[in-house]
Amino acid sequence: MAKYEELCRALLAAGYVPATVYEYLTAPPAGRTVVLRHDVDRKPENALAMAGLESDLGIHSTYYFRHPATFVPEVIGRVQALGHEVGYHYEVLAKARGDYTKAIGLFDRELAEFREICDVRTVCMHGSPLSRYDNRDLWKEYDFRDYGVLGEAYLSMAGGDLLYLTDTGRNWGGKHSIRDAMPGAGVAPVETTDELVRWVESSGVEGLYLTVHPERWAVGEGEWAISSLTDFTVNIGKRVLQVMRA
Ligand SMILES: [Zn+2]
Repeated sequence: MAKYEELCRALLAAGYVPATVYEYLTAPPAGRTVVLRHDVDRKPENALAMAGLESDLGIHSTYYFRHPATFVPEVIGRVQALGHEVGYHYEVLAKARGDYTKAIGLFDRELAEFREICDVRTVCMHGSPLSRYDNRDLWKEYDFRDYGVLGEAYLSMAGGDLLYLTDTGRNWGGKHSIRDAMPGAGVAPVETTDELVRWVESSGVEGLYLTVHPERWAVGEGEWAISSLTDFTVNIGKRVLQVMRA
């Protein structure tokens, strides 16, 4: 997480203005822009630590939580309270094994559960690695706008001016899965975060779109993390039991 902080500081020092996915789609900042997207696939406590770190630096970003894998209302509420956008990381077509009617019903129900605790304006597909279904295909049959959703983090962001980078595959070099690829995205000549930091300082690229998975960044023994984690660990435990029994 200390390394991620280095990256954030380098982005700010290079003049990048952070924008959430929602902000980018509705009122993008003029000039250098960075959209930081976080897919919370596992370890919601790491997402909270990352959200706190960003908030301390004056950065707001977008966190997509799965249902039920990382649907922890205590965490989601706190991430939103820190000034970040919270969205729904849907995987309903995979869950419904390709049954579109079932999938859209599930989308509607899970989205409603999110909206009981936060204001969801954008959604993002989860690239279920074990499924042969691409969750985005749902929108070949349906329109997310009919569900009060303004944008989808792949479909609505494609074809823009942003250079897309993701930490999928434990490096930044574009060796991520096909499933996670952005259509038409360029590739940055970097592998490690140290290389990315140096590249950010000198590349001159105006728009960046970074996908960062919080579970891939170890939370150190920082006081912030420890103090913020202890008071909801019990609640996460309860939630995990609920999910396991469901
Ligand atoms: Zn995911």
